[in-house]
Amino acid sequence: MSPGPASEPRPERPLAPDDPLTRIAGIGPKTAALLAEAGALRVLDLLLHLPRRYEDRSRLSCLDGDLEPGSWVLVRGRLRGLRTRRPRRRLTIVDGAVDDGRGELAVVWFNQPWLGRRLSDEREFYLYGQLRLGARQRLQLVNPELEEAGDGGERLVPVYPRLGPYGGRRLRRAIEACLPALDRCEDPIAPELRDRFGLPGLGPALRRLHEPEAEPPATAEGTAIGLEERLAPCRRRLAFDELLALSCAVAARRGRRRQGAAPAVASDAARRALARELLPFRLTAAQQRVTAEIAADLGRSTPMGRLLQGDVGSGKTAVAALALAMVLEAGLQAAVMVPTELLAEQHARTLERYLGPAGWPPCLLTASQPAAARREARRGIADGSQRLVVGTHALFQEGLSYAALGLVVIDEQHRFGVVQRSALAAKGRDPHVLVMTATPIPRSLALTVYGDLELSVIDELPPGRREVRTVVRPESARPKVLEFVAAEVAKGGRAYVVYPFIEAAEELPVASLLEHEAVVRRHCPGVGVGLLHGRLSRQRRDQVTAAFRAGELQVLLATTVVEVGVDVPEATVMVVESAQRFGLSQLHQLRGRVGRGERPAWCVLLADEGIGDAARTRLEILGRCHDGFTIAEEDLAMRGPGELTGVRQWGPAGFRFASLARDHALVEATRSVAAELAARGELGAVQARLAHFHPGAGPGIGS
Ligand code: ADP
Ligand code: MG
Repeated sequence: MSPGPASEPRPERPLAPDDPLTRIAGIGPKTAALLAEAGALRVLDLLLHLPRRYEDRSRLSCLDGDLEPGSWVLVRGRLRGLRTRRPRRRLTIVDGAVDDGRGELAVVWFNQPWLGRRLSDEREFYLYGQLRLGARQRLQLVNPELEEAGDGGERLVPVYPRLGPYGGRRLRRAIEACLPALDRCEDPIAPELRDRFGLPGLGPALRRLHEPEAEPPATAEGTAIGLEERLAPCRRRLAFDELLALSCAVAARRGRRRQGAAPAVASDAARRALARELLPFRLTAAQQRVTAEIAADLGRSTPMGRLLQGDVGSGKTAVAALALAMVLEAGLQAAVMVPTELLAEQHARTLERYLGPAGWPPCLLTASQPAAARREARRGIADGSQRLVVGTHALFQEGLSYAALGLVVIDEQHRFGVVQRSALAAKGRDPHVLVMTATPIPRSLALTVYGDLELSVIDELPPGRREVRTVVRPESARPKVLEFVAAEVAKGGRAYVVYPFIEAAEELPVASLLEHEAVVRRHCPGVGVGLLHGRLSRQRRDQVTAAFRAGELQVLLATTVVEVGVDVPEATVMVVESAQRFGLSQLHQLRGRVGRGERPAWCVLLADEGIGDAARTRLEILGRCHDGFTIAEEDLAMRGPGELTGVRQWGPAGFRFASLARDHALVEATRSVAAELAARGELGAVQARLAHFHPGAGPGIGS
């Protein structure tokens, strides 16, 4: 503290990225607490909060000009005649008009009651939104974003997503006030590395994203495209950092596993297991190859970490059964972990068939089992008398210890995510781990989410599989489709009719499933129709499935439980209701349930008429494409990774800056950089530097 003259204010220390937000004018302890709740604690956190778009405020729409329904417009004007209405519970409408001095336009906001209190007709606002035709074909601006007009002079204005209670101009001002801290922002990436990939420095990149330079002389095409192009290197820089943080975490985990010790399975045990001829068919060449890869891993005392990929029906489960047999033959225990109880039951049944006769009957362990059965299972696991166990995450709960766990097979079905995977490895004292995914996942995703695993791919289907002819039909065609189903049944076929989950966690209400059942029965007179959904007891589900398998029932109405279950060669038709609600990969999975027998098979995707061209085009991909990998790539490109079944859970919050669909090349690049860093022993240091900027990008994945 330099004692300056009392009259002069003490020179403020320049703002630094790590400073608390209370150093920003206008942010007191209260606001800071609210912002902290929204995840922003430091100046740096606001600096990493990037604009969603930029508004060129020289390009205002004039309300006396031509206004096209559907177009997005920016209007500057005063609000007129605002009123707030509540036509029913849960619906608030604030409406009125905006007047820009040249004309008027109706404005309406739904369910934003606070607007009614906050708006005034005194001040000028910018409104940005889409024009739609309302009642009586009147043009209106619906739910426009709103910001009070400042003192003019603003041209290219960053528009930020809200941050908790903070939005609009207040947020923009606060972020603006943080910008000086960028001068003191240390770059976590060394200059050589930046040069190698042509990346701008972090500070300059952030500054340009918050304050893009004024447009160069406008091109005929307009300026919006030019701007994004100019900002692309800056976005790339942030994506690079984020992906590198993830790649480092993955590399670190891989390193840790390599240091672990697992029981090596002697090759003669593996040979003996294979010699038992447990499977009722000959392995395909691809199955043989991956089985050999797995056997080689199991033979080492470094824990195996392998991802087994293969299209639906390619025979992954069969391969997993052989891996289990090798470990069991060596006198060790093995566990199979799946995301749902239903799947656990299904796997237990399959493994009973493959491994039961060899003297390794699986036991089931799930949370909803009767306590006595669970106790029994736990005792057997602990004393080693139970050698093979199938279950949900209950397998790795506190207090459950394995006598000699050699292998864990995880059937992820894309529902686990990486966090649980690592928790489990820690619990099991370094068992070998084999992860199966039911949906082939795109390479970029595989490298990130599963980047610490070796990859085995079954790229061949068992002989005799046929392509399932796939068509998209409107719902109005349902009667015809059901008649087709009835005709197929008359010819000896069987059919599934599948309904979507309403929400991820919640199944279609049983009542509406019953309604659908009535419709199906009406159109398929004399056909045995069974109902299968998650609310049925296990016993009831078993009965229904068995009856379908035996042919006593010929049509199975189901929620997506069949996705993971039934294997019936006579099934020739798969009808999917509201198909637009499913991901392509999931539909591909469903389709894989038919076409396993002699006869030609069909998949009919019913979709609401109103789904729009894009959604229809998406579904039609399935008509042309029968390869799960290509379909997954298309899904990723069209919907983003978050939409791929269950991949949402891949990390704590998903990517902030990177896009797996866009940044393929960066995924590969950062992966090799992480490997280099690991080889040079610099992994930890770089990880720490990156964690400073991307605290969310590591922990869930890497720890
Ligand atoms: P995935 O788990 O990859 O979907 P499964 O292991 O469940 O595939 O196998 C799908 C079906 O194919 C099962 O009915 C299985 O019995 C059969 N199958 C697997 N491998 C072969 C093979 N090599 N030859 C013939 N049928 C096979
Ligand atoms: Mg399977």
